Amino acid sequence: SLGSVPAGPPDAIIGLTDAYNSSTAPHKVNVGVGAYRDDSGKPYVLPVVKVAEARVIEKGLNKEYAGIAGIAGFVDRSLEFAYGKNSDTLKSGRVKGVQTLSGTGGLRIWGEFWKKFGGDGILLPDPSWGNHTPIFKNSGLNVETYRYFDYENSKLNIDGMLEDLSKASPTCVLLHACAHNPTGCDPDMGQWKAVSDVIKEAGHYTFFDCAYQGFASGDAEKDAASIRMFVEEGHDMALVQSYSKNFGLYGERVGCLSVVGSDADNAANIVSQLKICIRPNYSNPPVHGARIVEEVLSDAALEQDFRDQCKEMSERIILMRSLLRSTLEGLGSEKDWSHITSQIGMFCYSGLNPEQVDRLREEFDIFCTRDGRISMAGVTQGNVEHISSSIHEVTK
Ligand code: PMP
Repeated sequence: SLGSVPAGPPDAIIGLTDAYNSSTAPHKVNVGVGAYRDDSGKPYVLPVVKVAEARVIEKGLNKEYAGIAGIAGFVDRSLEFAYGKNSDTLKSGRVKGVQTLSGTGGLRIWGEFWKKFGGDGILLPDPSWGNHTPIFKNSGLNVETYRYFDYENSKLNIDGMLEDLSKASPTCVLLHACAHNPTGCDPDMGQWKAVSDVIKEAGHYTFFDCAYQGFASGDAEKDAASIRMFVEEGHDMALVQSYSKNFGLYGERVGCLSVVGSDADNAANIVSQLKICIRPNYSNPPVHGARIVEEVLSDAALEQDFRDQCKEMSERIILMRSLLRSTLEGLGSEKDWSHITSQIGMFCYSGLNPEQVDRLREEFDIFCTRDGRISMAGVTQGNVEHISSSIHEVTK
């Protein structure tokens, strides 16, 4: 009988939203979950997504299953978006992919595939997105970490990263393509080159997780620079893309998992095995969100609208970074808050400790994860004063 099933703990991030929803404080703030909010704190649907969705509906398409690999046109547009329309490697047929249940689903399928054909383990940055470890553990992999963040100085620990990668025996190395979650610290291009060299030398396989292309810098080409450099450097590699943040398609679950094979046949063989991993999981992916992305990326005018609107979102976040920092400094906080503006992407890895985070929630109705990660997307001109004065209060 199942009578003795214990209650499970709430998810660290999703549970926060539940706690936020049950707070009755008028000034409550949710800076936990990484979902974009406009300057009035409201969820946001990109205008270009509404236009593309209307066009998709107008077409009156049927609701048949997509194949196991999803919608081919969507996958083609996704590969161009990440690898570059003019990529010779893409044109050579060495890059192939499948549609996935957003980034999370792609990560899980990759984990299962790697366990079957690659090896027993995976190396993640310390820290990494909280869901990475359980996803790969549930895929049957041993999860280990390489040094990534210099917690003391709030910056990238590039020396530690290179040393750990060079010492590890050959395995799959997960890299955040841009806007590392949760730290907001990325290698610069020179550092990426050093990472590429070390990975090659140590014989690792590279797996990029790209959840913020376009959202990080406001320029989708620039945000793909790490991926494209690794391709240029001749790595066989894999990539998972998420359209949750950049297209704001969170609940539609749109993603793509692709590989750069040693040649076109190798890529096709890998895709055939990815499909064998997908089939018993969920059979085939949902079609609606993928059709929207395909529509946008197949039309030059819509694609430009997307790029403009994505840039607007990232600019609002960058503005909120400087406002949060200047407000904190204006209140007389003597702490060094320069990392708020030097970090990129959706999050500010604030350096607040778990006790300070608890005080923010209990005394000021501000909800963020206990690692001190603040979603900048939840900061607005209307609440930045309240957030700053509360942070100042708990860090005095
Ligand atoms: N990877 C990283 C680094 C992320 O930050 C996220 C979103 N929080 C994801 C993957 C997956 O998100 P989704 O499943 O919504 O695409």
